Amino acid sequence: MGPAEEKLYPVLDDLLQAWRSSDYRPVPSTKVVGHRWSARSSDVREFLARNQVPYRWYSADEPEGRRLLAAAGEDGMRLPVVVTPDGTPLVEPEAVDLAARVGLATTPTADFYDLVVIGGGPAGLGAAVYGASEGLRTVLVERSATGGQAGQSSRIENYLGFPDGVSGAQLTDRARRQAAKFGAEILTAREVTALEVNGAARIVRFSDGSAVAAHSVILATGVSYRQLAAPGCEDLTGCGVFYGSALTEAPSCQGQDVYIVGGANSAGQAAMYLSRGAKSVTLLVRGESLSASMSHYLIQQIEESPNIQVRTRTVVEEAHGDGHLERLTLRDVDSGHTEQVDAQWVFVFIGAAPLTDWLDGTVLRDERGFILAGPDLTADGRPPEGWELDRPPYHLETNVPGVFVAGDARSESAKRVASAVGEGAMAVMLVHRYLEQS
Ligand SMILES: Cc1cc2nc3c(=O)[nH]c(=O)nc-3n(C[C@H](O)[C@H](O)[C@H](O)COP(=O)(O)OP(=O)(O)OC[C@H]3O[C@@H](n4cnc5c(N)ncnc54)[C@H](O)[C@@H]3O)c2cc1C
Repeated sequence: MGPAEEKLYPVLDDLLQAWRSSDYRPVPSTKVVGHRWSARSSDVREFLARNQVPYRWYSADEPEGRRLLAAAGEDGMRLPVVVTPDGTPLVEPEAVDLAARVGLATTPTADFYDLVVIGGGPAGLGAAVYGASEGLRTVLVERSATGGQAGQSSRIENYLGFPDGVSGAQLTDRARRQAAKFGAEILTAREVTALEVNGAARIVRFSDGSAVAAHSVILATGVSYRQLAAPGCEDLTGCGVFYGSALTEAPSCQGQDVYIVGGANSAGQAAMYLSRGAKSVTLLVRGESLSASMSHYLIQQIEESPNIQVRTRTVVEEAHGDGHLERLTLRDVDSGHTEQVDAQWVFVFIGAAPLTDWLDGTVLRDERGFILAGPDLTADGRPPEGWELDRPPYHLETNVPGVFVAGDARSESAKRVASAVGEGAMAVMLVHRYLEQS
């Protein structure tokens, strides 16, 4: 046996061991061919990454990318092209088609459930784990990828039981598998657009008009990133301007100058994560310092990172670029002075808002769109309009009996992973109470 084989055999042995163990993960075989600066290509990569689907990325300009396109019978005019593990090419795929082809469930197996959970962040996953493990026929519906905001966090340091921190993707992937193990169905790439009440049934309608019904519903729809209003940003989204995509885009930022807008923990975590590979990271903060908006441990880490600089009292005035981001105009809030900087990458973390307009006319919300529940509905001592039961709404129950809310979407919620998970569990306890009495 030559030296090469001597090295090879232990490696093969390791592979065999891994294959035999339950941790075995197949070598990535989904291929994505697209343009570096294309919002659609960026969306597909982000969708696969956030759904933990291994893939390889090929630029349409490179020989292997061109070869894959030719094999798919494409000339590169319609991108991205995804080649699934069985060799099927999908041209400019919609998320729901892509999800189904890479093995994610997209359709419910039944018409009626005990519980529909809407949203697959920590609150929804918590609700699905407790609901399914306590015997409720449970389906969770997620419009994009399970994990929610937490799934996009590079390192959660304050979640109980993880003294060394945990990546949000790891934490929420485990939660997703745990929910599935207990028998919860998890539908991906399905957006809920309406909630209807039909007697005791609660009907949850999807964007394609189909629906699923249940005895009870937990709204766990969280919040979505606010968009930067500066001119140029909208056109360049996905082409240098990114919202919460720091984890997916980090490999492309190696050795580059990167800008991050925002002064809260999400911006701080992204700065730390990107600083490992980027040449420099500049944090643009509107406020006077980070201390009002960021945790002390993150501020310390940022101060100790030689390639991160913080520019306070600075905002993005305009984004410029032809096809992709090339420059930013920055404005000093106090002096009004503007300056142009070369920039190919800007990641925006400027807060978030609940997207709950689809609940209009059904579920009561506060002036910012957050869902009202329990004591907040009876603050004046009277039950909410239309409430017909003898009892007041339970703690996390909305103005529609049997419809509950958990996590960041709830008015005055704590906006933490732990509280979202806790509210998911508590909502399930209240679902049991509701079902016993109805
Ligand atoms: C980058 C980042 C870092 C963070 N770091 C920390 C940290 O270190 N510690 C901490 O405690 N907290 C942290 N947070 C906050 C924490 O992640 C959130 O408080 C938590 O994720 C809220 O969970 P949620 O389930 O209520 O909502 P979300 O996480 O927002 O999940 C809601 C889910 O619902 C889905 N959804 C929305 N509308 C619909 C619809 N109509 N149909 C179907 N699905 C829908 C969304 O796609 C999303 O997946 C961080 C947040 C970010 C963005």
